[in-house]
Formats: sequence, structure tokens, C-alpha cells
Amino acid sequence: MDKYTYLIVGAGIFGSTVAERLASAGNKVLVIERRAHLAGNIYSYTDKETGIEIHKYGSHIFHTEIDEVWDYIRKFMKFNDYVHIVDTRHNGRLYPMPINLDTVNLLYGTDMNSEEAKKFVSEEAERDRKKYGIVEPKNFEEKGISLVGEKLYTVFLKNYTEKQWNMPATKISAKILSRIPVRFSHDNRYFMTAKHQGIPMDGYTKIVERMLDSENIQVKINTDFKDIQNDLPENIKIIYCGQVDELCNYELGVLPWRSLRFEEERTENGLGESVINEADKNVPYTRTHDYKYYQVHQPEVIQQKISYIAREYPADFEKGGEAYYPVDNEKSAELYKEYVKLAKNKYPNLILGGRLGAYQYWDMDVAIKNALDLAKELLHEHDE
Ligand SMILES: Cc1cc2nc3c(=O)[nH]c(=O)nc-3n(C[C@H](O)[C@H](O)[C@H](O)COP(=O)(O)OP(=O)(O)OC[C@H]3O[C@@H](n4cnc5c(N)ncnc54)[C@H](O)[C@@H]3O)c2cc1C
Repeated sequence: MDKYTYLIVGAGIFGSTVAERLASAGNKVLVIERRAHLAGNIYSYTDKETGIEIHKYGSHIFHTEIDEVWDYIRKFMKFNDYVHIVDTRHNGRLYPMPINLDTVNLLYGTDMNSEEAKKFVSEEAERDRKKYGIVEPKNFEEKGISLVGEKLYTVFLKNYTEKQWNMPATKISAKILSRIPVRFSHDNRYFMTAKHQGIPMDGYTKIVERMLDSENIQVKINTDFKDIQNDLPENIKIIYCGQVDELCNYELGVLPWRSLRFEEERTENGLGESVINEADKNVPYTRTHDYKYYQVHQPEVIQQKISYIAREYPADFEKGGEAYYPVDNEKSAELYKEYVKLAKNKYPNLILGGRLGAYQYWDMDVAIKNALDLAKELLHEHDE
């Protein structure tokens, strides 16, 4: 243990980026991961028989506007030209998502042009705002209605969001809905503003394996921080990418998260596209993934009859379960702050990082950007 300057807890994309940067500057780094595999929630593996890359924790599409991140990640992997497109099913019919001109025309059975649709949606919103007497929207429901009117809101936002959070939209904060991106064009790209997007050609796990492949890094999987914390040298710096409440033995209570459950199926009845959202209440899952459609660089994988699909069910989070989305409200933000203080007292050499440690939803590019910034900070300290 004495030879390591840094211990990274968690071999997700955040921890692995920090490890790679520190090691390439000559530091000895120990990376531990309690799961039996690397890569955290971006872990994927190839099904040998079909060549389909299965995203174990749900679809992951790499997209970013940050050049630094795009340049960095491509040192470890080539990306294909996949462009993400999503449909939402409502009453057995598919609608482009995010809402665009086609979504509006299909839902209302109209044939409006861009200007007509813009005027129409704003009139719908105005009418329904008055109907419900909404002046300053007090919750998600009021905000949704006042932005696009009751019909578009109910069909495409209300039921989906209530399924996701397992609570009525009137109890969800208006803050999480700053705007609803309605496009009055036929553009159906999900990440319309992403400067770069794609899927890693050899899969996500290989990115992390390549990052950690250094003589300065030792990796131990199936190893929990709890199991080694008493054997650590006093001065080792710890970058902890796990949950802070767990680290502190839940002394102040449990930080709330939402969880997910995936039901996987090998089938000849694929989706014909990579993701379909389920808008309706009577369908208990929120999305279905059909992973082969990400492999646009391997047409033979897409053209085969077999698909690997996964239905994504929202689930309540229980202590020790899989944490997916932080429940962002004032109470949880306060509790998180208290935990950060407690952790700092208990472990003066510990830095909390990654989406779990920061108690934030981060896309991969944000996780990488934050990791690059942290590594720069640490290396700067080291130089001084
Ligand atoms: C359903 C879903 C879909 C997503 N899709 C996209 C997408 O399309 N595009 C995108 O950019 N982002 C997407 N994301 C976000 C992406 O998953 C995250 O940005 C990324 O996983 C963050 O990496 P991380 O290293 O911070 O965390 P993680 O990947 O969670 O890594 C943390 C690691 O720490 C380990 N760990 C925790 N505690 C301990 C301990 N005590 N001891 C040892 N190890 C420990 C965990 O096992 C885990 O492997 C999605 C997220 C979800 C939930």
C-alpha cells in the first residue's frame, strides 16, 4: 500500500479518468471497484453469438459540446457516426421525441406549417393557463400546462414523469422543468445541439480498460472500500466515487435516489430503432432499448433477425440498492451538505467525486470534464 500516492474508489468513467491522468503524470495509483467488472454504469459487453453490444445499465450515447472531452476520450477509442433518435409511443402510435412539428401534427391530426404550429401551441398554452388560473406555476404540472397546453403536456410529459418519480406531477418541483424543447421543424435528432456524438466502436468497457492499462495503476475488482480502509497508509489521498451516506454508515439517514430495473430479452421482435419511450400510464416501463441499433458501423449486426432488448422500469431505491437518479430537492440538498461535512471530518484526505459522490446526475461528458479538472487541480498541488 505504501507505494501508492492515490487511492481511487470506483472504476467508473470518473474514477478511471482521474486515475489515468494522475498515472500518466508519474503517480502510483490504486483503483478499487466493488463490482465484478470495470466501467461503472457505462459497462457494456458483447454477446458472442450475435455480436450485439449490451449496455448493462441502460442505453449510453456519448454526446458532448466540450472539445476537450471529445479529444480526450478519442485517445482511447474510435467512435461511430450514430445519431440518436427517439420515438414515444402513445395509444399504440409512435411520435418523434423531443416534440417537433411532426409530433404536434400527428397528435392533433393537422397539417400545420412551422409558423402555424408555433401560434397554435402558444394559443393552447394561453387558453389552458387561464382555464386553470395559473399565474406563477407552483409545480411541474402547472409549469408543463403553461408551457405547451394541457394536451401536449399530459400525453408526452405528465404520465412519463409520474412513472419515473412515482409521485403525482403536482408534487414535483416546477424547477426541474425550465422549458420544454418544442421544435417547430422536422428535426428529430435527440441531441440537436451536440457538437459531437457517437458510440464507441469497441464498446464502453474497453475505453476504461485502456485508460487503466498503465504500469503506474493497479486495479482490484470485487474490492469494497470498507474491506481495505483500515490498511491504508496515513497520507494516501482518496478519491471516493461512491455514496457519501454509505461511507458515513448512514449516520444522518439515507440520501434519496430513484432506481431502475431492466428486464432483458433476446427476441426476433425488435424495435426497429434503438429506443422507444412509453408515454402511457398503463405501460409500467418507461423505455425499451434495442441495443443493436447503436452499431451503425456494423450493418451485419443490425441486419440480423435477433435483437437484445431491455425494458426499463422505474423502481424505488432502498439502502444498499442501485442508485440511478438523485432526488433533487431542498431537503436532500441540505442532507447532502451535512454528509459532506461529516465525511471531511472523518476522512481529511478524502475527495468526493463522480456522480454518486457528488450526488448529481451527470452525463458521461460532464463526469469526464469534472474528472479532468480535478486531476489538473491535484497535479498542480503536487507541483507546488
Ligand atoms: C439509465 C441511465 C442512462 C444514461 N445514459 C447516458 C447517456 O446516454 N449519455 C451520457 O452521457 N450519460 C448517460 N448516463 C450517465 C452516465 O451513466 C454517468 O455519467 C456515468 O456513469 C458516471 O460515471 P461515474 O464514474 O461518476 O459513476 P459510476 O459509473 O456509478 O461509477 C462509480 C463506481 O464506484 C463503485 N463504488 C461505489 N462505492 C464503492 C465502494 N465503497 N467501494 C468500491 N467501489 C465502489 C461503483 O460500483 C461504480 O462502479 C446515464 C445514466 C443512467 C442512470
